[in-house]
Amino acid sequence: MDIAVAPPPNKRARKSQTLDQDITGIRAILSDEFDEDIALIKAHSCQLETKQQLQAVIQELSQKLPHFQHLKRVRDRSVLICPSSEIGVSQTLEQHLEQFAFSEHVLRALCHGVRVVDVPERMPRLRAQYEKTIQHWPCKFHPNHYSESLRNGTNFSAGQRIFHKRMAQLLVRLSRDVNASRPVGICVDPRQPSIVSIAGASESASPHEHCGMLLVDFVARSQEGGATKTDLPFTEDSEAEAEETTLRGIPKAYYDYLRKNDEYKDLTFGAEKSRESKEVEHVQGADNLAKFGPYLCTGYDVYLLQEPCLMCSMALVHSRAKRVFFLRNSENGALVSRFQLHSVRELNHHYEVFQFTTSEDGDLT
Ligand SMILES: [Zn+2]
Repeated sequence: MDIAVAPPPNKRARKSQTLDQDITGIRAILSDEFDEDIALIKAHSCQLETKQQLQAVIQELSQKLPHFQHLKRVRDRSVLICPSSEIGVSQTLEQHLEQFAFSEHVLRALCHGVRVVDVPERMPRLRAQYEKTIQHWPCKFHPNHYSESLRNGTNFSAGQRIFHKRMAQLLVRLSRDVNASRPVGICVDPRQPSIVSIAGASESASPHEHCGMLLVDFVARSQEGGATKTDLPFTEDSEAEAEETTLRGIPKAYYDYLRKNDEYKDLTFGAEKSRESKEVEHVQGADNLAKFGPYLCTGYDVYLLQEPCLMCSMALVHSRAKRVFFLRNSENGALVSRFQLHSVRELNHHYEVFQFTTSEDGDLT
């Protein structure tokens, strides 16, 4: 009987079992403004008696009450006047309008057939939102092909999709076989594509040794920077192999593992050397990290086994990563679980975020 009441394996335990064949797709993590239903606000409207009134009413309204830039102001003969919240609690619409010195015939029109209606608070971002929104009131909409493609998954070509999924499988393998099942991250220059750097979280509990933080730092190594003190041996560039690129951002254990494995023979490794680094060699004591730090991951894709914490997510903002892909949710994750750091407008850099979907996702929803 004890066995019968044992709890089913939870999501976390099952996720850790994720193997190669389980990764089924990739979904963009868009900020809520793309996905949520658009909030409605109350607005006062009036009903025109004749269409001939329309021109004068709209002309004065747009000058004196320039609200609702995102909406069509007229539906049939109903005209939006202002958000109901603008009208004082103990005020009538007429008293409110008096302060704007409307001409007499327009004021009369505005006070005829007054109703309170629900209108969308802002412009929709995606067509699906638009179609829901116009059921309430006609609104403006500027379709954005790229945003739509992120939502419906057509932003990646079949070849790109295969590569991204392969990186996700690689994260699972490297974590299991090289990093004692702790999180791993891979940084890729998507132009070739080529693996620039790999980092695994250390045993230490310090957030400075999370794989996101280490990955950014190891990318710096490929640009002759890097601040983390580590005993980890890194891959050396052989004379013949690396003229334009460098393997110095990849710890030797990961490189050797991948090189020995026939399955990964076709992968390309190495980072383009910093163009400026050739000049810097002549400048004694130049602080490379300070000089290149803010532009470290510019144009690079980052793949992480675990959703990054707030500190790692910020490090990826500072390093200007182009896209962040991750496989598993983290309890303290800052991209979908706790926050959507990438949708904070105030940040000076925004990366795109994608999560791999697994065959487990289906039966958990
Ligand atoms: Zn972290």
